[in-house]
Amino acid sequence: MKIAFIGLGNMGGGMAANLVKEGHAVRAFDLANEALDAARNNGCETFASVREAVEGVDAVVSMLPNGGIVKSVFTSDVIGTAPTDAILIDCSTIDVATAREVEQLAADAGYAMVDAPVSGGIAAANAGTLTFMVGGSDEGFERAKAVLEGMGKAVIHAGGAGAGQAAKICNNMMLGIHMIGTCEAFTMAQRLGLDPKVFYDIASVSSGQSWSVTSYCPLPGVGPTTPADNGYKGGFAAGLMLKDLRLAMEAAETAGVDAQMGRHARELYEAFDAAGNGGRDFSAIIETL
Ligand code: NAD
Repeated sequence: MKIAFIGLGNMGGGMAANLVKEGHAVRAFDLANEALDAARNNGCETFASVREAVEGVDAVVSMLPNGGIVKSVFTSDVIGTAPTDAILIDCSTIDVATAREVEQLAADAGYAMVDAPVSGGIAAANAGTLTFMVGGSDEGFERAKAVLEGMGKAVIHAGGAGAGQAAKICNNMMLGIHMIGTCEAFTMAQRLGLDPKVFYDIASVSSGQSWSVTSYCPLPGVGPTTPADNGYKGGFAAGLMLKDLRLAMEAAETAGVDAQMGRHARELYEAFDAAGNGGRDFSAIIETL
């Protein structure tokens, strides 16, 4: 397939490279020259604008920072320029309302479009092992799946337009809450005189178990290797966790849900970010307890 890829940052760079490895012709665009250079080295053809990149393609994939940028890229440069039989796939994490609005504008212009945010960070993007949560029609999902399978280990149809974004922020709200709870429990366990490795062995097979405990333990030297073993570098940046918690709280308000734990998690990550920790792994919040 001929695939336009817009947004070649930390995530998009590796994803576009995996589409090349799958044998697709990837037409790449990013505002940053550095990202374009890396994309060329990975076998993509690069272009000077979104409009040029989407000419004659079978699919458009985007991986952009936020909803405002997604809306502007699609409404100004993709819709009306890409062929109407191209499948439009936005993989960015954005608010549900903007995802639905852009998908409706695309549908009005005759395109099938899906939201397909991802679970898995930069390592999964590079390895082609992302999980995609897809919102859109059955037909849109099937067409998007053929593209997304080349970049992930699982492609799941979450429901209609915006359902992928809804699944993503509900999942990440749980992750933020679980991580803070895990940090509190491990801190308390140590203060109560428990060996954290022993507590890990117990919690991992008990009812306090979660991904934050077993796969992403916030203490160095406990459980599998995690960002805690690397000075909290790499991994999932606290600033991105805060972005997702903000999106989750916007959605909670729209949906009329009083998500008190989610709100508190957002407040704690806001304080953590404001103290200059936005670029560190989100499990470093254990240091503030
Ligand atoms: P990033 O900032 O590294 O990459 C975004 C890229 O978009 C940059 O290269 C930037 O130059 C480019 N860009 C911005 N505006 C543009 C425009 N108008 N046209 C073309 N290119 C433009 O961010 P990232 O970490 O790759 O994240 C991308 C998306 O993936 C975000 O929505 C993020 O929330 C989501 N996400 C990130 C992770 C992660 O671990 N990094 C995990 C899951 C989801």
